[in-house]
Amino acid sequence: MTMTILVFGSYDFLRKLPDQIHKRTTDNLVVLTDFHQAVSQIQIASPDVIFVQASLKGGIELCGWLKEQTQLSCIHCILVEDRPQQLAQRSQNGCEWEFEMTATALHQGADAYIWQLPTEEMATHRLILGQLTVGLRKAQKYRDLIEKNHILSAIALADSLTDLNNRRALEWDLPRQITKARNQNIPLSLVILDVDYFKKVNDQYGHLVGDRLLQLLCTRLRHNLRSQDTAFRYGGEEFVVLLPHTTAEEALIVADRLNRIVGEQPFSINSKLIISVTISLGVACLEADDDEKGIGLLHRADQCLLAAKASGRNRVICSHQLSQLSSLEAVS
Ligand code: GH3
Ligand code: MG
Ligand code: MG
Repeated sequence: MTMTILVFGSYDFLRKLPDQIHKRTTDNLVVLTDFHQAVSQIQIASPDVIFVQASLKGGIELCGWLKEQTQLSCIHCILVEDRPQQLAQRSQNGCEWEFEMTATALHQGADAYIWQLPTEEMATHRLILGQLTVGLRKAQKYRDLIEKNHILSAIALADSLTDLNNRRALEWDLPRQITKARNQNIPLSLVILDVDYFKKVNDQYGHLVGDRLLQLLCTRLRHNLRSQDTAFRYGGEEFVVLLPHTTAEEALIVADRLNRIVGEQPFSINSKLIISVTISLGVACLEADDDEKGIGLLHRADQCLLAAKASGRNRVICSHQLSQLSSLEAVS
C-alpha cells in the first residue's frame, strides 16, 4: 500500500532530509510552502506523515490545526526544528532547554520534535527515519482499523437472511433522511409492506422454505426499486422502503408497482416447488409537524398497512386515502 508524505517546507529544507524522503516519487511526496495550500491539500488527500519546517511561516499553526481536525488527527506530524534562535538557545542552555522546547512542540500539536543540527546530520537523519517508521506504522494500523470498522458496521446494519439493511440501519438512516429532506425542502415518503398470510407458508412447507421465499422476495423488491430508494427488513416478513425526493403520489405509484411485481409472478423455491404470495402496503409522506426521528411517519404508514390488511390484503393504502376514509366514517 502506498503511503504519502507531505513536506511543509522549502526545497532547501527538503534537500537536508534523508535521501529516503526527498528521493521518493512525486506520487507519494508532496512539497508545499503555503499554509492555506497545505490545508486544502490535506483536506483533499490526507497524507500519512507530515514533516513541518519550524522556521517556515505557518508551520507551528499547521501542527495545531491538524490536531483540531478529528478526521486528521491520526496523521503523524513531525516538527523539525531549524529556527536559528532556538538552535542557538539549545547549544547555550543544553538539556533543560531541549526538554522545555520538546514539551512545547508536543502541546502545540506535533507528534515528534526533532532538532535539525547541521553538526550532527547523521544522528538527525536516523531520528527522522525512526519517526517516519513510527508514522507509517501508525498509518497502516489506522487503515486496518478503518477497514475493520467498515466490515463491522456492514455486519451490524445488515440482515443476515436477506442481506437487506436491518431495522437498526433504518433507525440510523431515517432521522438523517428527514433532516436532509427538511434542509433541502424536498419530499420524503415511506412504504411499509408485509407478506400476506405468511404463517401459512411456514405451516405448509416449513421454515426453510419460508426463509427461501423471503430471500427471493427481497431480491425481487431490490431489483425493482429506483436507485435512490432503500429497502430495510423491519421485522420478520415486514419491510420498509425509504423514498427520498418522492411525493405521496409518486410513492403510491412505486408501492403499486411493488404490489404487482410480487403478486403477479410466483416464486420458484426449487425445480418442484412454486409459491404465490401477495403483499399489503401502507404509504405515508413526511409532513411539516412530524417528529425528527420519523416515529410519526412510520406510524402513519403502519396505520395504512393495517387498513390494507383489514380491507382484504394484497393492496396499497396511502395516508391521504386513510384520512378520507376516516372523515367519511365520521360523516356517516
Ligand atoms: P398477515 O396477512 O396478517 O400478515 O398474516 P401473516 O400470517 O403473514 O402474519 P403473522 O404475523 O401471523 O405471521 C407472520 C409469520 O412470519 C410468523 C413467523 O413465524 C413468520 N416469520 C417471521 N420471520 C420469519 C423468518 O425469518 N423466516 C420464516 N421462515 N418465517 C418467519
Ligand atoms: Mg404477514
Ligand atoms: Mg408481519
